[in-house]
Amino acid sequence: MLVRGAVAQEVAYPTERVFVERGTAPSEHPLDIRHMRVELSFDPAQKLVRGTVTHLFVPLRPGVDSVFFDGPGIRIRRALLGGHDVRYRTSPEGVTVYPEPALTWDTPDSITFQYEANPEKGLYFVGWDDPRGLSRKQIWSQGQGIDNRHWIPCYDRPNDKMTTEMIVTFDSAYSVLSNGTLLGVRDNPGGTRTWHYRMTHPHSTYLVMLAIGVYGVRTERTRAGVPVNLWYYPDQEDRVGPTYRYAPAMVDFVADATGVPYPWESYSQVPVQDFLYGGMENTTATVYGDFLLVDRRAFHDRNYIAVGAHELAHQWFGDFVTARSGPGTWLQESFATFYAKLFQKSVFGEDWYEWARREEQNAALEASKQNRVPITHSAAGSARVYQKGSAVLDMMMSTFGADELRRVIGAYLRAHAYANVETNDLYQSFQDVLGLSPDWFFDEWIYRGGEPAYAVRFTDDVNTDGGRASLFTVTQEQKRDGLAGLFRMPVTFEVHYTDGTSSRTTRTIADQTTVVTVPTPEGRTVAFALFDPGGLILKSVDFQKPAAMLRAQVERATLMIDRYDALAAMRSWPPESKREILASVMGRETFHAMKEEALSQIAGDTTAGGIALIREGLRDGEATVRQAALRASGRVLSAVRVEAEALLRDSSYATEAQALELLSARYPAETPRYLAWTKEDKGTGHIVNVLWHEINAGRGDTSSLARLVDYAGVSYEFMTRVNAFAALRRLGYCDASLMGALFSAMASPNPRLREPAASFAAYFMEQSRYRRALVEYYHSHAWTAAEATLLAPAFK
Ligand SMILES: [Zn+2]
Repeated sequence: MLVRGAVAQEVAYPTERVFVERGTAPSEHPLDIRHMRVELSFDPAQKLVRGTVTHLFVPLRPGVDSVFFDGPGIRIRRALLGGHDVRYRTSPEGVTVYPEPALTWDTPDSITFQYEANPEKGLYFVGWDDPRGLSRKQIWSQGQGIDNRHWIPCYDRPNDKMTTEMIVTFDSAYSVLSNGTLLGVRDNPGGTRTWHYRMTHPHSTYLVMLAIGVYGVRTERTRAGVPVNLWYYPDQEDRVGPTYRYAPAMVDFVADATGVPYPWESYSQVPVQDFLYGGMENTTATVYGDFLLVDRRAFHDRNYIAVGAHELAHQWFGDFVTARSGPGTWLQESFATFYAKLFQKSVFGEDWYEWARREEQNAALEASKQNRVPITHSAAGSARVYQKGSAVLDMMMSTFGADELRRVIGAYLRAHAYANVETNDLYQSFQDVLGLSPDWFFDEWIYRGGEPAYAVRFTDDVNTDGGRASLFTVTQEQKRDGLAGLFRMPVTFEVHYTDGTSSRTTRTIADQTTVVTVPTPEGRTVAFALFDPGGLILKSVDFQKPAAMLRAQVERATLMIDRYDALAAMRSWPPESKREILASVMGRETFHAMKEEALSQIAGDTTAGGIALIREGLRDGEATVRQAALRASGRVLSAVRVEAEALLRDSSYATEAQALELLSARYPAETPRYLAWTKEDKGTGHIVNVLWHEINAGRGDTSSLARLVDYAGVSYEFMTRVNAFAALRRLGYCDASLMGALFSAMASPNPRLREPAASFAAYFMEQSRYRRALVEYYHSHAWTAAEATLLAPAFK
């Protein structure tokens, strides 16, 4: 209906539902780019890229007389429109092409750039500058957020998807991986080879990838027949098994959990040295840090499973459907975190899941101490975009049902296949699939911030109008303003009785104060009470319980996390009042966090009973429990020395290092024996061997000092270097022989190396002798522009 002449009326939009953020609209663009073909060759010694990129497109408007492509620092040699030279102008941000006559819609065309670049970001040359040639030599990319534009001139925003094609010519001694299917490999004269990869479905440019290095590849298949290519270093083939445990099973899991088959033809995973993050979900080809390429022993400390599952889930959430702009980031990160958690639950069980959820909730509550920015805000931060969002999806599952959510998400994925999404698309799927409009849930958990803070008072078995009953009085105490109000959530209340039976009720808590009544069955006596058993809800809660109730809860609550909460509430109790409880926990519980909590509470107990429990902990089957027992053993180490020494041969490198550090500090006379036992072990980042040389150097052996200086240098990956800098700092060593290693680390593009190195330098700059040497080294060397930018802050 159209009413002519109607006077504009003031409309009351429900603006409180959406925390409006300016400047987050999707980028505008005059072309729909359909295909991007990239041809590349390299001069790795010069960190030089030579490329030709062709964009096939259809204009989105009539009269397009200028088109901008992102490409900071790229040197354009030639620009062609439909194969003919075209006028262009470069700027610090990229290149603008001026078609004459103007382009018009429905007219497909192409723009080609021939170019060179020495990218400061986006594409990294690793190990080519190691004068001894010990380092691995690689070239690899990291496109997210907006860095692929540094080595490919392109429309580098997520809201235009295109098929891509990568044709790379390089030394035939290396292997090359890019997105999509390997169409062919051609040998050229002169010892080079050309690899040709192509995507068959469109994706966003930040997901374009390249990795070049010396690799072996093992291929497995999923149940559905998808090839899963496991890339590895040929000198570390033994690491394929521990690193890629569950690799094909994960793919089947996410397909089942979403109801949407894996969206691409194949899936590859490739480790690279000095990676900036844990992993990156490039379409069909995840890149991850080679510190996660673990052997059988390092598997116990940190392995690839969590990162691998997260990046895999992104193949659906991020790659198949892609957030249109910043406020949708949680549609990628929260979902990848959530499905990785569900996969790990399927492998590690319910206790693991409860603990993982609790850690996510704690991360969100911690972030709220700073501010209460919604997860859809560009300033939400990683604790919200990853952990809080994953915890919110858990609540979506418990609130609306697991099967219901699976259908909603499956429909949402299918409706936006190979396209862009925003949060409202998920909301719409609730309407289309379940006929629900969960405004309240999206409002309080997604569009607004904060979490509920409940205060719970429990009144045990009193007379009420309807007979005897227990009462829960729930008050919402969180700060209320435009960012957060009263929360509405279904909450379960449980009362457990001394005869082992229980009563349970679920009520929607929405008011500031709600009294929930749980009738007491005839002749029952209350043992303990639970508010939100299992800890499904992201919240803080103040529920003070008497000691007897906590004792009953730690012994009898069904779910691990409820037993854990009761145990943690006993921290301030004196040892004699809980020794039996802690013994019972150590004997009965199987989950590591329960035993670790018990051991931390045993730490002050020097009685025979306490010592026996620590001894038990040192022999536990799980590495983190043995580590907790080592931490708890401080006051009674002499009584458990045999067990502690046995950990010098532990299956976990982290445990071994912890035992070596503790024992050598306590028993200097025995240290030569400890060093002899641990001499051969290395571990991720050479954790054991760096410590070994630190201890040995502390005993006056200068050859170990030289070894640590070596470990800090360019021949090693960043974790070893960071560990070596930490050891050298404790040893107070910053002499001339270290300068080359230190400055190369301070000028590294990898912040995980650069920042610890800068902190090392800052520490020694405070001592005048070292300050002079550092300043002199800085001024007596020539630096590239990129190096100078990174080094300047330390010497201003
Ligand atoms: Zn992610």
